[in-house]
Amino acid sequence: MSHPLPDYHMHTPRCNHAEGRVAEYAEAAIAAGLSEIGISDHSPMPPAMDDNWRMRMDELDDYVAEVLAARDQFAGHLTIRLGLEVDWRPGCEPFVRQLSAQYPWDYLIGSVHYLGNWAFDDPDERDRWDEVGIGATYCQYFAAVADSAASGLFDIIGHPDLAKKFGHRPSKSEQEAVVAAETAMLDAVARAGVALEISSAGLRKPCAEIYPTSRIIKGAAERGIPFSYGSDAHAPNLVGYAQEACRGLLRQHGITAISQFVQRRRTSID
Ligand code: ZN
Ligand code: FE
Ligand code: FE
Ligand code: ZN
Repeated sequence: MSHPLPDYHMHTPRCNHAEGRVAEYAEAAIAAGLSEIGISDHSPMPPAMDDNWRMRMDELDDYVAEVLAARDQFAGHLTIRLGLEVDWRPGCEPFVRQLSAQYPWDYLIGSVHYLGNWAFDDPDERDRWDEVGIGATYCQYFAAVADSAASGLFDIIGHPDLAKKFGHRPSKSEQEAVVAAETAMLDAVARAGVALEISSAGLRKPCAEIYPTSRIIKGAAERGIPFSYGSDAHAPNLVGYAQEACRGLLRQHGITAISQFVQRRRTSID
């Protein structure tokens, strides 16, 4: 059997939409044959950007303590990294910089879930897709991802084409602009030296496709952009989800290495 991929994306109940203690994720990972995981719950945000989809600032100490305790508890059986999934929103930079200095993170995942004040992947805000339009949403989304990479705040770009989540697809006439935005995003990611996440979460969503799409993986391979793997598990039974499918898709594009992060330094494992 080939080496299992580290799964660097999973959540705890602090974000109000996940279940499972860190130790339960660890047990599930071991049962699934993994040797390394990273916990990456939704980060607190500055008060003005706060909502119900994340832990509160006063839960952060406890979050870090739980992950570090599990690291000790499972030492010798499973490697557990300390991560965080941070929303990219323009203006968040000072807050995130301070947060990143505060704890011994192994990596920060930067994710775009908001365009302006629109949570475009929230089912409750789905109507706004009709107002903004599919092509425009994709273009704004990829521009935001490019900005998040260029910010230098993050090690990994989470689910890099989340705009497709509900299955919205740009029309033929929109396609050229979307591909241009996608290309600019890939160039920004390559310049910033950050990794893209290959995420199996898309397989569980209406788009029924791994994030990111094949064309983006191809463009990343051409630019030498590294990948990390994430299940985006919001419950322990999803740890390592569809890891073989992700591995297969990377292989199709000649990618045979996966990223590992230790205290915000990236190395590659085959
Ligand atoms: Zn979540
Ligand atoms: Fe996310
Ligand atoms: Fe997540
Ligand atoms: Zn996520």
